[in-house]
Amino acid sequence: MNLYDYVKNVPDFPEKGIQFKDITPLIGDGEAFRYATHRFAEFAQSVKADVIVGPDARGFIFGAPVATHLGLGFVPVRKPGKLPRQTLTETYSLEYGTNALSLHEGDIQPGQNVLIVDDLLATGGTIKATMNLIERSGANVVGLAFLIELKFLEGRAKLPKAPILTLLEY
Ligand code: AMP
Repeated sequence: MNLYDYVKNVPDFPEKGIQFKDITPLIGDGEAFRYATHRFAEFAQSVKADVIVGPDARGFIFGAPVATHLGLGFVPVRKPGKLPRQTLTETYSLEYGTNALSLHEGDIQPGQNVLIVDDLLATGGTIKATMNLIERSGANVVGLAFLIELKFLEGRAKLPKAPILTLLEY
Protein backbone atom coordinates (compact mmCIF):
# COMPACT_ATOMS: atom_id res chain seq x y z
CA MET A 1 0.00 0.00 0.00
CA ASN A 2 1.46 3.37 -1.03
CA LEU A 3 0.32 5.79 1.66
CA TYR A 4 1.82 8.76 -0.23
CA ASP A 5 -1.14 8.46 -2.63
CA TYR A 6 -3.48 9.37 0.23
CA VAL A 7 -1.81 12.59 1.46
CA LYS A 8 -2.66 15.84 -0.37
CA ASN A 9 -0.19 18.73 -0.32
CA VAL A 10 -1.94 22.10 0.09
CA PRO A 11 0.40 25.06 -0.59
CA ASP A 12 0.13 28.22 1.51
CA PHE A 13 -2.24 26.84 4.17
CA PRO A 14 -2.90 28.06 6.85
CA GLU A 15 -0.45 30.80 5.86
CA LYS A 16 1.90 31.66 2.98
CA GLY A 17 4.97 29.43 2.75
CA ILE A 18 3.50 26.42 4.60
CA GLN A 19 3.08 23.20 2.60
CA PHE A 20 0.18 21.69 4.52
CA LYS A 21 -0.08 17.89 4.46
CA ASP A 22 -3.78 17.02 4.39
CA ILE A 23 -4.30 13.52 5.79
CA THR A 24 -8.11 13.45 5.41
CA PRO A 25 -7.97 11.33 2.19
CA LEU A 26 -5.95 8.73 4.12
CA ILE A 27 -8.27 8.48 7.11
CA GLY A 28 -11.22 8.54 4.71
CA ASP A 29 -10.00 5.32 3.09
CA GLY A 30 -10.67 2.25 5.23
CA GLU A 31 -7.78 0.18 3.88
CA ALA A 32 -5.21 2.97 4.11
CA PHE A 33 -6.33 4.01 7.60
CA ARG A 34 -6.24 0.43 8.86
CA TYR A 35 -2.83 -0.20 7.27
CA ALA A 36 -1.31 2.90 8.91
CA THR A 37 -2.76 2.25 12.36
CA HIS A 38 -1.74 -1.43 12.22
CA ARG A 39 1.84 -0.39 11.45
CA PHE A 40 1.70 1.84 14.54
CA ALA A 41 0.28 -1.05 16.59
CA GLU A 42 3.14 -3.36 15.55
CA PHE A 43 5.58 -0.67 16.60
CA ALA A 44 3.77 -0.22 19.94
CA GLN A 45 4.21 -3.94 20.59
CA SER A 46 7.88 -3.87 19.60
CA VAL A 47 8.65 -1.08 22.10
CA LYS A 48 6.43 -2.75 24.75
CA ALA A 49 4.12 0.22 25.21
CA ASP A 50 1.42 -0.18 27.85
CA VAL A 51 -0.45 3.05 27.14
CA ILE A 52 -0.96 5.24 24.04
CA VAL A 53 -0.86 9.04 24.23
CA GLY A 54 -2.10 11.28 21.41
CA PRO A 55 -1.83 15.09 21.23
CA ASP A 56 -4.87 17.23 20.33
CA ALA A 57 -6.34 16.75 17.74
CA ARG A 58 -4.94 14.55 15.00
CA GLY A 59 -3.08 12.45 17.57
CA PHE A 60 -6.53 11.32 18.76
CA ILE A 61 -7.43 10.12 15.25
CA PHE A 62 -4.33 7.95 14.93
CA GLY A 63 -3.70 7.05 18.57
CA ALA A 64 -7.12 5.77 19.62
CA PRO A 65 -7.33 2.98 16.97
CA VAL A 66 -3.86 1.79 18.00
CA ALA A 67 -5.00 1.57 21.63
CA THR A 68 -8.21 -0.34 20.84
CA HIS A 69 -6.37 -2.69 18.48
CA LEU A 70 -3.99 -3.69 21.29
CA GLY A 71 -6.45 -3.46 24.19
CA LEU A 72 -4.46 -0.59 25.74
CA GLY A 73 -5.68 2.65 27.28
CA PHE A 74 -5.58 5.94 25.38
CA VAL A 75 -4.71 9.21 27.11
CA PRO A 76 -5.41 12.55 25.39
CA VAL A 77 -3.04 15.51 25.66
CA ARG A 78 -5.29 18.51 25.10
CA LYS A 79 -5.29 22.21 24.38
CA PRO A 80 -5.65 24.19 27.63
CA GLY A 81 -9.13 24.70 29.07
CA LYS A 82 -10.50 21.36 27.80
CA LEU A 83 -9.60 18.98 30.63
CA PRO A 84 -11.85 19.43 33.68
CA ARG A 85 -9.56 18.20 36.48
CA GLN A 86 -6.14 19.32 37.75
CA THR A 87 -3.64 19.42 34.87
CA LEU A 88 0.04 19.72 34.03
CA THR A 89 0.69 22.25 31.21
CA GLU A 90 3.57 22.96 28.79
CA THR A 91 3.85 25.81 26.27
CA TYR A 92 5.81 25.50 22.99
CA SER A 93 6.18 26.96 19.48
CA LEU A 94 4.74 25.48 16.28
CA GLU A 95 5.91 25.61 12.63
CA TYR A 96 3.30 28.37 12.59
CA GLY A 97 2.30 30.14 15.86
CA THR A 98 2.49 28.99 19.50
CA ASN A 99 0.44 26.60 21.55
CA ALA A 100 0.10 24.98 24.95
CA LEU A 101 -0.82 21.42 25.89
CA SER A 102 -2.24 19.94 29.08
CA LEU A 103 -2.48 16.49 30.62
CA HIS A 104 -4.66 15.43 33.55
CA GLU A 105 -2.62 14.70 36.63
CA GLY A 106 -3.06 11.00 37.32
CA ASP A 107 -4.16 9.94 33.80
CA ILE A 108 -0.71 8.41 33.31
CA GLN A 109 0.78 6.35 36.14
CA PRO A 110 4.43 6.67 37.22
CA GLY A 111 6.49 3.92 35.59
CA GLN A 112 4.10 3.33 32.66
CA ASN A 113 5.63 2.82 29.20
CA VAL A 114 4.12 5.32 26.80
CA LEU A 115 3.96 5.37 23.00
CA ILE A 116 3.11 8.81 21.60
CA VAL A 117 1.19 8.75 18.30
CA ASP A 118 0.64 11.82 16.13
CA ASP A 119 -0.04 12.65 12.49
CA LEU A 120 3.05 14.68 11.69
CA LEU A 121 6.48 15.61 13.08
CA ALA A 122 7.33 19.16 12.01
CA THR A 123 9.50 21.29 14.33
CA GLY A 124 9.05 18.77 17.14
CA GLY A 125 7.58 21.35 19.54
CA THR A 126 4.32 19.47 20.05
CA ILE A 127 6.05 16.19 20.77
CA LYS A 128 8.69 17.75 23.00
CA ALA A 129 5.90 19.36 25.10
CA THR A 130 4.01 16.03 25.17
CA MET A 131 7.17 14.19 26.24
CA ASN A 132 7.74 16.73 29.03
CA LEU A 133 4.19 16.19 30.31
CA ILE A 134 4.68 12.42 30.34
CA GLU A 135 8.02 12.71 32.11
CA ARG A 136 6.50 15.08 34.68
CA SER A 137 3.93 12.33 35.34
CA GLY A 138 6.79 9.97 36.18
CA ALA A 139 6.21 7.73 33.14
CA ASN A 140 8.62 6.65 30.37
CA VAL A 141 8.35 7.54 26.69
CA VAL A 142 9.32 4.27 24.96
CA GLY A 143 8.55 5.37 21.40
CA LEU A 144 7.16 7.98 19.01
CA ALA A 145 5.06 7.12 15.95
CA PHE A 146 4.11 9.54 13.17
CA LEU A 147 2.38 9.16 9.87
CA ILE A 148 4.54 11.94 8.38
CA GLU A 149 7.94 13.47 9.11
CA LEU A 150 8.95 16.81 7.55
CA LYS A 151 12.67 15.98 7.44
CA PHE A 152 13.85 19.46 6.42
CA LEU A 153 12.61 20.91 9.74
CA GLU A 154 14.92 18.51 11.64
CA GLY A 155 12.40 18.15 14.47
CA ARG A 156 13.82 14.83 15.62
CA ALA A 157 17.17 16.49 16.49
CA LYS A 158 15.34 18.43 19.23
CA LEU A 159 13.81 15.36 20.82
CA PRO A 160 15.27 13.29 23.65
CA LYS A 161 16.39 9.84 22.48
CA ALA A 162 13.51 7.41 21.87
CA PRO A 163 12.75 4.97 19.03
CA ILE A 164 10.86 6.79 16.24
CA LEU A 165 8.64 5.30 13.53
CA THR A 166 7.62 7.50 10.60
CA LEU A 167 5.63 6.03 7.69
CA LEU A 168 6.09 8.91 5.21
CA GLU A 169 8.90 11.44 4.76
CA TYR A 170 8.98 14.78 2.91
P1 AMP B 1 5.37 20.61 15.39
O1 AMP B 1 5.06 20.93 16.81
O2 AMP B 1 6.01 21.75 14.67
O3 AMP B 1 6.16 19.32 15.23
O4 AMP B 1 3.97 20.45 14.65
C1 AMP B 1 3.21 19.39 14.96
C2 AMP B 1 1.74 19.50 14.59
O5 AMP B 1 1.38 20.63 13.78
C3 AMP B 1 1.45 18.29 13.77
O6 AMP B 1 0.95 17.27 14.63
C4 AMP B 1 0.45 18.73 12.75
O7 AMP B 1 -0.84 18.43 13.23
C5 AMP B 1 0.64 20.24 12.63
N1 AMP B 1 1.45 20.61 11.45
C6 AMP B 1 2.62 21.28 11.48
N2 AMP B 1 3.09 21.49 10.24
C7 AMP B 1 2.19 20.92 9.40
C8 AMP B 1 2.12 20.78 7.99
N3 AMP B 1 3.05 21.26 7.17
N4 AMP B 1 1.05 20.10 7.48
C9 AMP B 1 0.10 19.60 8.28
N5 AMP B 1 0.11 19.69 9.62
C10 AMP B 1 1.14 20.36 10.18
